[in-house]
Amino acid sequence: SRKPIIAGNWKLNKNLKETLAFLAEIDGKLPSEDKVEVAIAAPAMYLIPLVHHRGNNPLKVSAENVYFENSGAFTGETSPKALADEGIEYSIIGHSERREYFHETDEDINKKAHALFAAGVTPILCCGETLETFEAGKTAEWVSGQIEAGLKGLTAEQVSSMVIAYEPIWAIGTGKTATAEIADETCGVVRSVVEKLYGKNVSEAVRIQYGGSVKPETVEELMSKENIDGALVGGASLQAASFLGLLDIY
Ligand code: 13P
Repeated sequence: SRKPIIAGNWKLNKNLKETLAFLAEIDGKLPSEDKVEVAIAAPAMYLIPLVHHRGNNPLKVSAENVYFENSGAFTGETSPKALADEGIEYSIIGHSERREYFHETDEDINKKAHALFAAGVTPILCCGETLETFEAGKTAEWVSGQIEAGLKGLTAEQVSSMVIAYEPIWAIGTGKTATAEIADETCGVVRSVVEKLYGKNVSEAVRIQYGGSVKPETVEELMSKENIDGALVGGASLQAASFLGLLDIY
């Protein structure tokens, strides 16, 4: 009875004009909120326009990253409070691109989770292994470590309400989707870590997305799996037609 959440992650793409054109194209075409939650994660500059121009469409807005302090001398950062004040519901944290190119650690990411909850914004916590780790058969161990570190000190209530995204790095932007079986298995590992730390009620409540080359053609099989409660989608979320295509099953 977990409500699926399909979220686009635009990464470093689009300008304001393209953002508004996308909103115009999806206007009135999103499925009912009763069936699925729909979100777009966009660059910080376009979050407020998304909130202001989403109209009555059931579209949640997410940051792609956030800092863990609410104010001060932190040039270039965006605060959890700023997101909350502007009506932004979610923030991705710990995306593999943040970890790799911006050297974010599990500790930073855990601080971001705490700061987001304190401000009233829901985290989408990402985890995922490299091809090397996958091929060495160490995916479960690696992802478990990331989840334990990312959730450290969070309450059961907080974890129940959040979203976790499993995104194998070898499947991101490569066109190489994990098979639905592999994706489901590792999402199941994530759920079992949550169960070990917080018990069954929490592990049954937390929503776990799969991400990595999800396309309109592959989304149905992935979403049919027991442990997969949604998708975090890069490339296929950029064009309105293909974003809407991801939602056809709802
Ligand atoms: P792609 O869907 O382009 O593989 O990106 C996945 C991703 O990183 C979403 O956060």
